[in-house]
Amino acid sequence: MIIKVAQSAGFCFGVQRAVEGVLAWAKANKGKSVKIYGMLIHNSYVIDKLKELGIEVVEDIEQIAKEDIIFIRSHGVSMDEYAEIEKRAEKVYDFTCPYVKKIHEIVKEHSENGYDIIVVGDMNHPEVKGIVGHVSNNRKCFVIDSIEKVKEATNQIEGKAVVVCQTTFDNKKWSDIREFLESHTNYKVFDTICKATINRQKEAAELAKRVDIMLVVGDKKSSNTNKLYQLLNETKPTFFIEKVEDLDSIKLDSSAKSIGVTAGASTSPEQIEEVVKYLEEKFNEMNLKDFERLIDRSFSTVQRGEVVKGRII
Ligand code: SF4
Repeated sequence: MIIKVAQSAGFCFGVQRAVEGVLAWAKANKGKSVKIYGMLIHNSYVIDKLKELGIEVVEDIEQIAKEDIIFIRSHGVSMDEYAEIEKRAEKVYDFTCPYVKKIHEIVKEHSENGYDIIVVGDMNHPEVKGIVGHVSNNRKCFVIDSIEKVKEATNQIEGKAVVVCQTTFDNKKWSDIREFLESHTNYKVFDTICKATINRQKEAAELAKRVDIMLVVGDKKSSNTNKLYQLLNETKPTFFIEKVEDLDSIKLDSSAKSIGVTAGASTSPEQIEEVVKYLEEKFNEMNLKDFERLIDRSFSTVQRGEVVKGRII
């Protein structure tokens, strides 16, 4: 059995920065009241680990006490929320992803200069709420997710406007909306979709072409992990698991000779390791002499016998 693990599987840059930052700070400052404002990431496995270290998640700004050290998650917050948190807490550490921060700057600067704002995204997503919360000067702001809604917004915009996109929005939908805007309006359009998500999806689709079964690891509440699963499931038998124990209930096709493993941006390296280890043990137990056993973590370039991320394959 060949197990191929996608190189981009797991934490993206923004999530890794936030999780590692919180953990490092909490370990070095034991005994302090450390809290994260909102779910740091959509991953209950990681959140439970943080809780074990005494790090709490606080959802309501009113619950922030003056001795609290508050961490802002990678999704970011509105300007008002930030100011209120700063007022209430002892200290605030901002782990808003720099790509999201860039969108905040675009929106703030342009609304101050008389532009109306269009945000392409899901109005219930925390990142979008944070972006909308950077509109200044009482400028109009529209959150849209379809060309029909763009048309409604353009009817209400009289002057100049700027368009940004939620970093994890569906790439195909964004391309269609962007094309429409560029051909029907003279608005300033900023392509703020995150390439980490697109690259992960492309790599997973490529990996799926080379294996018999795909496995997606991650939290079912994570939107980017769900998208990854839906995309792969269109072309390949794909299983979506949250934790290693879920593998027990999956019946793998006995004729399958290869498995591809990928994971969403909020899945930790430990979760992926656990799954790969489990699969290795399972195949060892099965004593599949006829099958090759190989862990390949760089499916497109690595040959057997090379050392990849500390493993000899
Ligand atoms: Fe940042 Fe992209 Fe990760 Fe979002 S998906 S946290 S924008 S790196």
